[in-house]
Amino acid sequence: MSEIKNRLTTTAGAPMPTNEHSQTAGPRGPLLLQDYQLLEKLAHQNRERIPERAVHANGWGLEGIFTVTHDITRYTRAKLFSEIGKTTDVLSRWSTVAGEQGAADAERDVRGFSLKFYTEEGNWDMVGNNTPVFFVRDAYKFPDFIRTQKRHPKTNLRSPEAMFDFWAAQPESVHQVTILMSDRGIPVNPSHMNGYGSHTFSFWNADGERFWVKLHFKTQQGHAHHTNAEAERLIGKTRENYQEDLYNMVNEGRFPKWTLFLQVMPEREAETVPYNPFDVTKVWPHADYPLIEVGELEMNRIPENYFQMVENAAYSPSNVVPGIGFSPDKMLQARIFSYADAHRYRLGTHYEALPANAPKAADVNHYHKDGSMRFFRNDTGNPDAYYEPNQYENAPVADPSVQEPPLTISGDADRYGNAQDVDDYTQPRALFNLFDDGQKQRLYENYAAAMGPVSKPVKERWYAVLAKVSAEYEAGVRAANDALDSDVNAVPVTDDTPVPAE
Ligand code: NDP
Repeated sequence: MSEIKNRLTTTAGAPMPTNEHSQTAGPRGPLLLQDYQLLEKLAHQNRERIPERAVHANGWGLEGIFTVTHDITRYTRAKLFSEIGKTTDVLSRWSTVAGEQGAADAERDVRGFSLKFYTEEGNWDMVGNNTPVFFVRDAYKFPDFIRTQKRHPKTNLRSPEAMFDFWAAQPESVHQVTILMSDRGIPVNPSHMNGYGSHTFSFWNADGERFWVKLHFKTQQGHAHHTNAEAERLIGKTRENYQEDLYNMVNEGRFPKWTLFLQVMPEREAETVPYNPFDVTKVWPHADYPLIEVGELEMNRIPENYFQMVENAAYSPSNVVPGIGFSPDKMLQARIFSYADAHRYRLGTHYEALPANAPKAADVNHYHKDGSMRFFRNDTGNPDAYYEPNQYENAPVADPSVQEPPLTISGDADRYGNAQDVDDYTQPRALFNLFDDGQKQRLYENYAAAMGPVSKPVKERWYAVLAKVSAEYEAGVRAANDALDSDVNAVPVTDDTPVPAE
């Protein structure tokens, strides 16, 4: 028996004589095909990457803990909120939307803000953003919207023309675009931004009462953002400043924290509020639905292996637990399907069994069986109980006590779209009016930087949308664009550009 501890083996467990020297015909000779462990090493390397996410590819994650500080059991029976002081393990992933893996962290973009709560009744995924609203309200438009954010088929470059062409045809997007172009468009790092569930969700309590809720994770580090100029300088030095900041913060014991607040609307009130409370392009004004404090999130551990815990993390709004449910929000309804489906494609049939996604505090018992990467036992100890109904006592059995209360819905099946009388301008106007003069000026200049290459007709169409929000807003963005257009310094430097005299 060998004395070597941690003896190197093949993937099948056989001891390996070397991990450095190929088997060749003579010292200078060609390789031998029979050197299978070399082939294995090369083949494995080719498979070390998985398809990157179509959106939110560039991400950063931490592990941490959520602690309940206030009693909300009158709204939900979810076990993670069952008592003050209760703690639940959490895995976070923050991300930019458009950039591929390796894109600069400090780009102007919406940030994903996803949390997986490993509760004792299964995993609850809060798959939000750092903005309370979204660009479109109907999922039919979602793939097109994303296409405008990604690369143009011919130039293989991002296309501001496509972005503004699309947005100008979707006035509902002006709320989110205003946030994107505001100071909050480039957070210093994820610890300095809020997270929002964005959609309306439902909570239901032990008595079967349902409430509509909005989720707000407010940063305890304070908001901090980069201007475009700061971000450009930063990206010149490092493209990975978010990863660096989060790593350093946690290593130095400066754990980022957020306070969770809820807005709560009784179920029936949704029929009487003057706006559609399930429209993800709108917020619920705080004056109507004040924030209710719930608990604290502290992210305090760096995952041991980024690929295993962050790249393999699969968040989906479909992961809810008893006491938490969906709402009629059309975008949410589509994400319930499309996020889980994206993970089936990206990670495989049994993606929920990977370490990042497997429940930590709950048992898993189900009848979903074979398929690629079935690397775990799921026969619950009884090979006969592979279908249901069955005669066996120790087979998985449904629990009617976790049935969600019935949801009243009504209306004719139709495609309502433009027939709806929706006010897309009041809320962006309220946001614009919150900005001081400095914030407004930076908003205008951020637009000008983003709209530089956009054609005149598309610019005019977007100005027409802004004018409906506010004449001041439209005039400011137009003036900033005109100033940039006439900036003679914008001529690029070439090899023939004369060197200025000392
Ligand atoms: P409030 O004055 O009560 O709230 C204003 C909100 O605006 C605060 O939540 C603040 O976030 C947030 N805010 C400030 N600057 C920005 C920015 N650049 N980008 C995004 N959010 C920002 O007013 P209302 O509730 O009546 O809302 C007015 C407008 O504020 C809304 O139309 C919406 O655009 C925006 N807003 C509203 C939210 C809501 O849930 N009601 C949430 C976020 C934005 P913070 O407290 O973290 O500083």
